[in-house]
Amino acid sequence: MALIPFDDRDGTIWWDGHMIPWRDAKLHVLSHGLHYASAVFEGERAYAGNIFKLAAHTERLINSGRLLGFEIPFTAGQINDACNQVLAANHLTDAYVRPLAWRGSEQLAVSAQQTKIHLMVACWQWPNFFGADRLKGVRLGMAEWRRPHPQTAPTASKAAGLYMIGTLSKHAAEAAGYDDALMLTWDGYIGESTGANIFLVIDGKLHTPTPDCFLDGITRRTVMALAKARGIEVVERHIPVEDLAKASEVFLAGTAAEVTPVRAIGTHNFVPGKITEALLADYEALVVMAPEEVAKRAA
Ligand code: PMP
Repeated sequence: MALIPFDDRDGTIWWDGHMIPWRDAKLHVLSHGLHYASAVFEGERAYAGNIFKLAAHTERLINSGRLLGFEIPFTAGQINDACNQVLAANHLTDAYVRPLAWRGSEQLAVSAQQTKIHLMVACWQWPNFFGADRLKGVRLGMAEWRRPHPQTAPTASKAAGLYMIGTLSKHAAEAAGYDDALMLTWDGYIGESTGANIFLVIDGKLHTPTPDCFLDGITRRTVMALAKARGIEVVERHIPVEDLAKASEVFLAGTAAEVTPVRAIGTHNFVPGKITEALLADYEALVVMAPEEVAKRAA
């Protein structure tokens, strides 16, 4: 499929409080966010016209900015409205929604106290990012890069700069014939993939790494609640790499990845099984429910 560059599409983008034509949403090259990665973003999915867990995404966006030392000049309510309005303006009901906040071009140095903070929201159609084959299970290679120590980077922030090692890891994995990479934590435990959290089924229980140096994903928390609702025990812990040998099923969970079975990590093979299938079905059923119903069913 031919790639249509993002700057060569039609549509509407919300930018600092205004709806503007997609093609006019251009940024000056001397923007602090571009040079120094002073930018935070969100990845949201709308299903049947509702953005799943919108309030949680907006809260994380505001908090990501604070972790980078800036305050987004819009309230949570205004950001929620912007996301919904941009979806409607683009006539989309099932789509990926991308808010981004960044420091502007008033100053271009490490110190950037006087820069204005900008916010934009765009949306587009984006089917599951592993494609229709994802149900067969994806294959992960081992990344050379590790998730940094929380004193090395603001790891709880969905900050643009943290994706530098994600892109390097994903490119290396793809070059080696894998779909994605498994990134370890700075101290060598299982971390996450480059864009989703990971779950392992060991002896009928669901194990997932403690998110102390990477995102505690909204999908991750949703899946944990769905598992508990089914009576599946959830174990959050530091998981050594050797435990891959004990896992019968493995899957990824993230807004873009949704619930994606994993069929191999390096030399370890897994068969997507009953627990993955059940949670995948529960997640698919939950995301299309009305927001009030979602709030009732899963944390
Ligand atoms: N980790 C990384 C690195 C991610 O990019 C994402 C996607 N935002 C996640 C985990 C999962 O987070 P969420 O479920 O909130 O989308």
